[in-house]
Amino acid sequence: MNAYLHIPFCASICSYCDFTSFAGRESQMAAYVDALCLEIKDSSLEGPLPTIYFGGGTPSLLAPAQLGQILETLQKKAGFAQGIEISMEANPETVESQRLRADRAVGVNRLSFGAQAVQREILRKLGRGHEWERVEKAFQEAREAGFDNINLDLMFGLPGQSLGMFQESIEKAADLNPDHFSLYALQVEEGTPLAAQAAQGLALPPDDLTADEYAWAQGFLARQGFQQYEVSNFARDGKACRHNWNIWRGEDYWGFGVSAVGTVGRVRHGHGDDLMEYIRRVNAGEGALVMESLTEDTRAWEKLMLGLRTQDGVEKAEADRFIRAVGSPQWARFNRLLKEGFLSLTGGRYRVTSKGYFVLNGILEVLAV
Ligand code: SF4
Repeated sequence: MNAYLHIPFCASICSYCDFTSFAGRESQMAAYVDALCLEIKDSSLEGPLPTIYFGGGTPSLLAPAQLGQILETLQKKAGFAQGIEISMEANPETVESQRLRADRAVGVNRLSFGAQAVQREILRKLGRGHEWERVEKAFQEAREAGFDNINLDLMFGLPGQSLGMFQESIEKAADLNPDHFSLYALQVEEGTPLAAQAAQGLALPPDDLTADEYAWAQGFLARQGFQQYEVSNFARDGKACRHNWNIWRGEDYWGFGVSAVGTVGRVRHGHGDDLMEYIRRVNAGEGALVMESLTEDTRAWEKLMLGLRTQDGVEKAEADRFIRAVGSPQWARFNRLLKEGFLSLTGGRYRVTSKGYFVLNGILEVLAV
């Protein structure tokens, strides 16, 4: 069983963000960490844990001692598998040498930096609190602190971003020699400041420019020795994120903390997104979870869809059996995607092609039951 912990604190809120994150709530961090530990103790989490992932929010706003407190609780509760991967998302402006050494000392062994872009004007528009030089510094200091598994997040399809600017961002990021890249196309989510700006006329890049950026990045990163193993993720040999990979393969995981979700067997659990209510419920022993039972078919279909996100794809025999059982319209849609080159069939497995990756969400929607 894998473990995900949601750390919902941020120094400020980015213009495009629709994650559960709160700015200016530092005074609640200690109570939140205590609640997380209590939730872990009261859960039926089983180990030994192969992976732990601190996501957010900005987990690097927690003190290393707080991360250590959570990790110790997880270890006592479930134990750690040998070679456990412990990932932490970090914003570059929140870390420096000594702190990174402390993170390493409490057990964190994989970092994911939210770098996003090189150009100052783009970072400002996104509401990010760093400049590129800070990414370079944080990256070097992380290497010196002993991190040999570092991801950089970059974004494309950004307002004001040309193809050349995106290329500059990836090239400069590649110069740092990271182990992994995550590339995300900007999504304008309802209710965000960015959506309001777009409604007032902020120009967003056309889809064909975004498609060109993605296609260029796929080629560039392949030439640099990165393997694309999922729609947004590229890794050097042996450096794919094991946590996400396990989940895409359909393994069980627990989600702890406000807004976190998880799936254990055929039960999906989730939390509300009210921070204070989460802390209150855990402390009152009321249980923070909302449970939902999934049917066998839903779970099987989810596994199929998750498999299609990855380069492993899904086994043909298993997919065929399931698609036939769902019904002939689904079968016809699946075959059309194959014929049109969005899916391929090689080595007895269906996979989404490079062309298909750019429209993966559309493909998954077409196949949804
Ligand atoms: S740092 Fe991440 S989680 Fe925090 S506001 Fe920005 S996008 Fe949202």
